[in-house]
Amino acid sequence: MKKRLLIILTVAVLLVGAVLLTTVKWRAIVLKIVMTTVEPYFHGAEIDGTKFEQIGDKVYTFQWNWYRNLIIVTDVGLVVIDPMGSEAATALKKELDQRFPDKKVHTLIYSHYHLDHTRGGAVLAPTEVIAHEKCPTYWQEFEHQDVLEPTRLIAGDTTLNIGGGEIKALYMGLSHTDTLYAFHLPSERLVFTADLGLVKSVAPAGVPDRYAPGYLAALNRLAALDFQTFVPSHFGYGTRQDLIAWRDMMEDGRRLAREAIQKYGSLGVRDDQMANYFNTVYYPMREKYGSWHGFNEMFILNLVRDIEGEALGH
Ligand SMILES: [Zn+2]
Repeated sequence: MKKRLLIILTVAVLLVGAVLLTTVKWRAIVLKIVMTTVEPYFHGAEIDGTKFEQIGDKVYTFQWNWYRNLIIVTDVGLVVIDPMGSEAATALKKELDQRFPDKKVHTLIYSHYHLDHTRGGAVLAPTEVIAHEKCPTYWQEFEHQDVLEPTRLIAGDTTLNIGGGEIKALYMGLSHTDTLYAFHLPSERLVFTADLGLVKSVAPAGVPDRYAPGYLAALNRLAALDFQTFVPSHFGYGTRQDLIAWRDMMEDGRRLAREAIQKYGSLGVRDDQMANYFNTVYYPMREKYGSWHGFNEMFILNLVRDIEGEALGH
């Protein structure tokens, strides 16, 4: 009895406290809770920490928290695609020194200009650094002293022959920036992509810096290639089928957003649009992708991005 009374008293005190709080304070508390619900997308037992794995004859992948990059062993040294910041690059360098004491990093390739992929390259001390020709223009606008300058700029599809290994750098056009390359290693039947496709995981925040039509075209181009292993720059790696499933997920989200706009009007032109947008997109997406990593955490952000993209045309 005493215990029940104590609970009732505690609830009463909390309610009085709640009433005493100003509306503005309550809003901040609720918004902060909503913000923190995104956190589990980036962390978990399978995500946190580092892991170095061989995934092909001469190909390895290094996972550093939710980032993942690619290492190729060639006759002239190692090729690394994306340093992912100085902390990640330092952890990778330690692994490389232990596993390949006779090999240095010969070439560092940047998948695209984004700073979270290109910072920290100096740690790897590469002989050559390859990037799309537009990357330096974008870096100029940001603090980028920790981005190692390219020694070679490329444009369009470019086949890189490094130490007997063939790496096809496929230009993805205006998709996720207009500096994006995907990498096809024909002899390994492997494709590495940066911020273009994931394995059984939904997109983060609608994929930042995404031009949806070009992005879909890029995914379709890759889906048509002959390969077995698919390595994305975040979370786990998988197969070509995983890339195709991801393309389908992105297409489904976009198509449903289009239907929602057609049915309930473009953003802000009618009453009660948000709940109707939600109902149109959420249930069919949950049916197909509810079990994918991050579905709950990222649903609202992805929905907003698709609705906005459909309404504005990007
Ligand atoms: Zn990016």
